[in-house]
Amino acid sequence: MPSFHTSPGTRDILPPQANRWRAFVAVFADVVETAGYDHVIPPMFEDIGVFLRVGESTEIVTKEMYDFEDKGGRHVALRPEQTASVCRAFVEHRPATPWKVWYSGPNFRYEKPQLGRYRQFDQVGIEVLGVVDPHLDVEVIALASEFYARLGLRHVRLAINSLGDDGDRDRYVVALREHFTARLGELSDESRATLERNPLRVLDSKRSQDADVVAAAPSMRDFLGADAAAHFAAVQDGLRLAGIEFVVDDRLVRGLDYYRRTTFEFTAGSLDAAHTAIGGGGRYDGLVEQLGGPATPGIGFALGLDRTLLACDAEGVFAPRSSRVDVFVVDTTGGAHAADLCAQLRRRGVRTDRAWDARSMKAQMKAADRSGAQLVAIVGDDEVAAATVLLRTMDDGSQRTVPRTAVVDDVLAVLGH
Ligand code: AMP
Repeated sequence: MPSFHTSPGTRDILPPQANRWRAFVAVFADVVETAGYDHVIPPMFEDIGVFLRVGESTEIVTKEMYDFEDKGGRHVALRPEQTASVCRAFVEHRPATPWKVWYSGPNFRYEKPQLGRYRQFDQVGIEVLGVVDPHLDVEVIALASEFYARLGLRHVRLAINSLGDDGDRDRYVVALREHFTARLGELSDESRATLERNPLRVLDSKRSQDADVVAAAPSMRDFLGADAAAHFAAVQDGLRLAGIEFVVDDRLVRGLDYYRRTTFEFTAGSLDAAHTAIGGGGRYDGLVEQLGGPATPGIGFALGLDRTLLACDAEGVFAPRSSRVDVFVVDTTGGAHAADLCAQLRRRGVRTDRAWDARSMKAQMKAADRSGAQLVAIVGDDEVAAATVLLRTMDDGSQRTVPRTAVVDDVLAVLGH
């Protein structure tokens, strides 16, 4: 018989880890819904044209897209991120602005798999459409910070930058191209290839061969127009007022082409250099227009779930909660009493499991032990005859006989429900 394994870059998330994934999204939903963000669920695949707007010079689009022709001859792609889909949804449905939404779920990129880098990975994120106010940039960044704090993470660093407006960015790209072209011989082969496509991305190079040329490159700061500069100053003031620590990193350009003005990235001090980026975002004031909608400013972030959980592991916080039950029912009379007692307890919200296959008392008690339950409810012939249940507290091994009619309330009292 053939045996199958998960595809490269994908994983099974088994218990108890999977509990942690759900809890991660629940904490995120709580943080952002408290700030008035509504849940949105875009599809996992759509017309490839939507994602081409992410930037035809980014690797996400040129190399990593899971695209294919469906049986109806449509050229579709699995989403590599969700911002473009949210903007497409905005253009399609035209909700009132400001439109403040959050999302979660998997994205797909054909990357070289390694620890912290997967082909299917999850993100949680928010997007706001229709607001230019720099105070919103501060709110968006503050919500990400608040979320990390709620997970218990303490070693998260925030870097911010401004990519200016369209014209500013274009002038900067010209200056960068001139700078890198003048020192072409010193650049790595990879950066020379990147330069052809997108000079901004050369700034991202982590190769030591490129370090000197990158360090000497012109700074975006000197190319910001007056409006973009004032916006950036207001964002920094707001962050200081909110007590959020940050550094300005004028090399922070981020992967996606659609960013304008504020960009930011969170890195985990507890992770190795290869995968320290745990989240990022920024303004994308031109994206809605590119997708056929009215000129609409936008800002958002996406936080990587997989990597953030690695950071949680490294800091020893946000441990997975086991799905332990509270009560385990042992029934040596055939199993019908266990079914009845389980149903009653579960209806009252008590997490309850039981043994199967009419196993021996010894085997059932072993299963009870393995379940981690605090209480074991035992029903044998004597208990059935007397209409009672034997309640055993697993911690100290003490046992009490309780009338069958009172057992549910008794259990609730012991558990403090
Ligand atoms: P991006 O959408 O590229 O701005 O990425 C936002 C965040 O998603 C990053 O900071 C990572 O934490 C996470 N991320 C991006 N790509 C991957 C991947 N291939 N595997 C795991 N996490 C990823």
